[in-house]
Amino acid sequence: MLDLEAGDGIRFSGLDAGAPGGFASGEPLSDAPLAPSFPDTMIGIVGAGISGLSLGVFLEARGVEHEILEASDRTGGVIWSSLHDGRVLDHGPQRTRVTPPVAEMIRILGLGDRMVQVPPDIPLFVYRRGKLRQVPFRPGDLLRTDLLTARGKLRLLLEPFTGPYLRGETVGAFLTRKFGREAYEGVMGPLFGGLYGSDPGEMYVRHSLAETMGSFGVSKSIMGGFLLGRFNRTATPPATSFVDGMQEFTDAMEARVRSRLHLRTGSVGLRPEESAPAGESTGAPGAGWIVTTEGGQERRYDQVVLTIPAEPAADLLEAVAPEAAARLRHLRYNRLAMVHMVGDDCGLHGLGYQVGYGEGLRTRGVTWNASALGRPGVYTAFLGGARDPAMLERTDEEIGEVARTEFEAITGCRTRVVAVTRTRVPSWDRTWEALEGLELPAGLHLCTNYESRVGIPGRLARARGMAATLAASAGAAAGASS
Ligand SMILES: Cc1cc2nc3c(=O)[nH]c(=O)nc-3n(C[C@H](O)[C@H](O)[C@H](O)COP(=O)(O)OP(=O)(O)OC[C@H]3O[C@@H](n4cnc5c(N)ncnc54)[C@H](O)[C@@H]3O)c2cc1C
Repeated sequence: MLDLEAGDGIRFSGLDAGAPGGFASGEPLSDAPLAPSFPDTMIGIVGAGISGLSLGVFLEARGVEHEILEASDRTGGVIWSSLHDGRVLDHGPQRTRVTPPVAEMIRILGLGDRMVQVPPDIPLFVYRRGKLRQVPFRPGDLLRTDLLTARGKLRLLLEPFTGPYLRGETVGAFLTRKFGREAYEGVMGPLFGGLYGSDPGEMYVRHSLAETMGSFGVSKSIMGGFLLGRFNRTATPPATSFVDGMQEFTDAMEARVRSRLHLRTGSVGLRPEESAPAGESTGAPGAGWIVTTEGGQERRYDQVVLTIPAEPAADLLEAVAPEAAARLRHLRYNRLAMVHMVGDDCGLHGLGYQVGYGEGLRTRGVTWNASALGRPGVYTAFLGGARDPAMLERTDEEIGEVARTEFEAITGCRTRVVAVTRTRVPSWDRTWEALEGLELPAGLHLCTNYESRVGIPGRLARARGMAATLAASAGAAAGASS
């Protein structure tokens, strides 16, 4: 899931937009660490998931001093890989699109020969009307597909005559209006909602789909973009993992910033350097921030970037930006269960499948890492999410059994469950309205998967843009003091 995004991050008004995060405007960064060029500036990064780690790498490449504070005893956040009988299992993201910022990071880290690329033309399926049916990505395939009935296909032709999205329109309402209920429930809803484990009927177009359409170069007619081949997967950046799984990516980032990384150093307090009353920012140029860590240590930074989930970020902001904290507390996360199954060679070839709405199954989708990434016999099912939160109330054994029996019924492939992982992902649903107009005190920033796009390409694009902003302000501060 979550690998369809092709571009840059969404920006909420009120939040610092950053220097051009878009890659085209950025100079290629050197792959050799730069000696610190701005000795008077120290940046504090809270959180060492891929957002915090990549920000550290990009800051290092610009010669900006920083420290990364991580609460747990490991880096990577939701990115976590393990080995089962010599097979790699990924307990978070399964792969990433190799967009320019991702390619640049791979180059900086020297991981080019560790990539395991997904074949670009590998088929993707949707389980619909009792069987797996291939998703058409090329105009010619649309005529042949059995995913839609003849009536459903004819309905698609009306799309160019429908209007653009309306301000309060949800993705579900928008796609149904444009393509008809059959295409929405059978194909587009499951595929788009699967990216977030979310319910498109609860997601506003303006927060989610609009950005995705933009990243595929589609502005007016989605059908027009399709006919021009914009969704042809060989035309989008390839997807990749790494020999040892996605954690190899974050481990390599960690190795790069290790001297600046503090594990088991959760941030529990934040205050302006001057003793301004709670809730007021000093805003004074040059004023810094004090971060209190577990154990009561205090660390001073010129600017602080929060890369942590919304809830702990709200806790930190409570005393200095209570309104921002209240907004973050509105954001909903979807709870997901991932079930890793291992089977014999099942002869399945493809990326995997999503389950169409109304099929009466609890599984939302299954990734076939066996054929997509050459990991023998590994199949990973996703359950729960916004459309089935009750699933997460069950035990791991029950969830695993549901995934296994449904997978076997659909594919005929015999497997055994080897791991069940529970995780969370920002839902990007209606609750994101709370972020509109969010402002933070000067010197505090968010660089997170709820403030800009959730996928790894978006995370790296945002971190790159944030590093450029911070380097520019470090340069300005150095100029002012010289
Ligand atoms: C199940 C799943 C599947 C996904 N699939 C894909 C995919 O296939 N492709 C793709 O591109 N993207 C995918 N994504 C999205 C992407 O992986 C995530 O958005 C991204 O990894 C989040 O990274 P992060 O650093 O922003 O946050 P996190 O990974 O949440 O990291 C935050 C870090 O902050 C630390 N922390 C928390 N509180 C504190 C504190 N007070 N002080 C210090 N540290 C703190 C945490 O311990 C953690 O290490 C997936 C996500 C999930 C959950």
